[in-house]
Amino acid sequence: VVVGILMWHQPPKHKEWKGAGTTAHFYEIILGRCYTYTQIVRPELGHKDCSKIGKAFTNAFLSKDPCSSTEQDYQPLMELTNQTVPCNKTLLWSKTRDLVHDYAWVQPDLFTLEDTLLGYMADGLTWCGDPGSNEMNYQSCPDWRKDCSNNSVSIFWNTVSKRFAGDACGVVHVLLNGSIRNTFDEKSTFGRVEVFNLHPEKVHMLQAWVVQDIRTISSNSCSNSSIKDLEAILSKRNITFTCQDNYRPIRLLQCVKDPEHSSCRSEI
Ligand code: NAD
Repeated sequence: VVVGILMWHQPPKHKEWKGAGTTAHFYEIILGRCYTYTQIVRPELGHKDCSKIGKAFTNAFLSKDPCSSTEQDYQPLMELTNQTVPCNKTLLWSKTRDLVHDYAWVQPDLFTLEDTLLGYMADGLTWCGDPGSNEMNYQSCPDWRKDCSNNSVSIFWNTVSKRFAGDACGVVHVLLNGSIRNTFDEKSTFGRVEVFNLHPEKVHMLQAWVVQDIRTISSNSCSNSSIKDLEAILSKRNITFTCQDNYRPIRLLQCVKDPEHSSCRSEI
């Protein structure tokens, strides 16, 4: 009887996945980030209802199979978090996470997805639910490579990335990594989702800034064969493409971090 009672009080057993579980204090973090963003970072969004937004976020995945997440699950959240990014100010990225955010920090009129409300709230977090429980699974969540691609986190980023690119207008920029083979990776969110959701009627041009690791700078990375693939996709979609190697403002940022490097000592 004692064993029975003890077992009865065990926390609910969730399904076991190969990825990290929901970030501890997930709900408090997204709520806090929502208030920070709407009250302090962008007070012009002070009218947004963070309490409603927080609930819509968790309702999108609680009590659901975390491997059968859909865009529709996130629709109520999307509707509460619409936001206008001015034309010419959208900055996309792929494989340059830290550098792009450093750059956006010093150029605050530029917006990466993580500088919009929803991206700001969710960046760096993990979350999932379980069909047999109305609680979050803090033990484990699906890994997008090892468990399933339609998991609650991946579908979220696909959905918000699609809207972010679809809303863009004017000249759009993307910061790409010239120190890896697939500078343009057609399997990345940028390559799968964002490139195909830019509207040619609104977006005249995509300008790529290709940056290389300061320690391994070689010649022209705009001539990388994967960049040709990107160019071909955009040309088919009637969007002009330009590519700039080692864009100077970004190089200067790299040099702030590594001022003694030979490529930072002269001709910058
Ligand atoms: P990337 O390959 O550098 O990946 C960015 C991050 O997303 C990495 O942490 C990666 O592990 C993760 N990621 C990529 N595809 C995923 C998937 N299917 N499921 C779960 N996680 C995945 O660059 P990317 O894929 O081109 O994504 C960057 C672009 O897409 C940006 O323009 C941004 O707007 C948006 N995005 C942002 C995030 C984020 O975590 N802030 C995640 C995905 C996409």
